Amino acid sequence: MTKRFDLAIVGAGPAGSAAAWQAAQMGANVVILDKAAFPRDKPCGDGLTARAVSYLQKMGLTEELKKFHRVNGVHVYSPSEWTLSFPHRPGMPDYGLVVRRPVLDTLLLHHAAARGVEVRESAEVVGPTQDATGRVTGVTIKGGETIAADAVIAADGAYSPVKRALNLDSQYNGYSAIAIRAEMAANRPDSDMLEIYLQLLFQGDQLPGYAWIFPFGEGQINIGLGYINSYRKWQQINATAFLGEFMSTLPRDWDLPPIEHLKKNKLVRAWRLPMGFTAWPPWRPGVLFAGDALGAGKPVSGAGISKALESGLAAGECAVAALTNGGPDDFTNYENRMEAAWGREYKRGRMFHKLVGYPKVSEYGLKLLDNHTFRDRMLKTLYKKAESPSTS
Ligand SMILES: Cc1cc2nc3c(=O)[nH]c(=O)nc-3n(C[C@H](O)[C@H](O)[C@H](O)COP(=O)(O)OP(=O)(O)OC[C@H]3O[C@@H](n4cnc5c(N)ncnc54)[C@H](O)[C@@H]3O)c2cc1C
Repeated sequence: MTKRFDLAIVGAGPAGSAAAWQAAQMGANVVILDKAAFPRDKPCGDGLTARAVSYLQKMGLTEELKKFHRVNGVHVYSPSEWTLSFPHRPGMPDYGLVVRRPVLDTLLLHHAAARGVEVRESAEVVGPTQDATGRVTGVTIKGGETIAADAVIAADGAYSPVKRALNLDSQYNGYSAIAIRAEMAANRPDSDMLEIYLQLLFQGDQLPGYAWIFPFGEGQINIGLGYINSYRKWQQINATAFLGEFMSTLPRDWDLPPIEHLKKNKLVRAWRLPMGFTAWPPWRPGVLFAGDALGAGKPVSGAGISKALESGLAAGECAVAALTNGGPDDFTNYENRMEAAWGREYKRGRMFHKLVGYPKVSEYGLKLLDNHTFRDRMLKTLYKKAESPSTS
């Protein structure tokens, strides 16, 4: 049996649900498919940047966001302790939020459904269908059902089965981080600050990455760490054991569970985080890529949710605009949008990704950041840039 839609979206994470919501807002007939049944988990630090909050506000979720735990800044340890606040950007919140992914992603999916999007859960896409020219014309679901669509948005995450099935070649392929996290109770007062630990040593090498503690409120925290794959020995790192080592440096009176306990109870999970536009250009005839499937993650920080939301909203909008005015063979409008949003920043980010893979460079960078004169000057410039109206 074949059903026909304007747009079929594969993956109901933040990128897919944002794309579906946006396209339905514009009057498109949309189906979103996910292999999971919701609420489903996704390994994540669960931290929403101020920019991510602003996209959720734009999607009309301001009331719902009040239920999430608010954070007003970041305590950074480099290893000396300093504080970062969220910049005051015109029209943007100056706070972040922490929320478990099953809660956030289910909210977003229901929000898309309320706009008229057809939701298919437990529907694993095995691959795209293509016409004789190679243009994507829909998807096939496990079990054999096919869904025909004028265009497909692949928002199917870091391991994107759609991308793999298309054997997609991209000049920026391979830039990524490996990140691991566990959620747990901690015997410490609730905090309104994120915590970032920059000093991460593996066999004496300063790693290009960081560890974090993000608070959910009500005594619960998310602890994790991530490092990028330009570090030569990244595959030698046992991420779970490494997370355990980091946790053992935290105060004993927090009564954190041992890493073995977390592992035994499947409470610790690692995942890949592609970054720097790993699927460039972000479309092929009949298909657009968004979120982790595009490698939309920010190369320096690894923040992925705001980028998933932004690329999803843009993909939904550009897909409908192109289908209305031209057809499914050309989504250059989306490429232009993504290039204008992050093209220059991600070019620098890919260079940074390569450079900090050298432990000596990472070590030197950390020393600079730990020097308060250098740091104050750098932060002043960054805040000035962030708070200027042109970057809002
Ligand atoms: C440990 C870790 C910590 C992180 N912490 C943060 C953080 O604190 N803040 C932040 O901003 N970012 C963070 N990130 C990045 C962030 O999690 C991702 O960038 C974000 O989830 C990307 O959203 P997405 O919608 O593109 O993909 P996903 O959220 O991965 O969603 C993809 C969806 O596709 C579905 N899917 C996959 N295959 C198929 C298939 N064959 N058929 C149908 N459906 C399919 C999946 O079930 C899933 O629901 C972190 C990443 C990791 C790994």
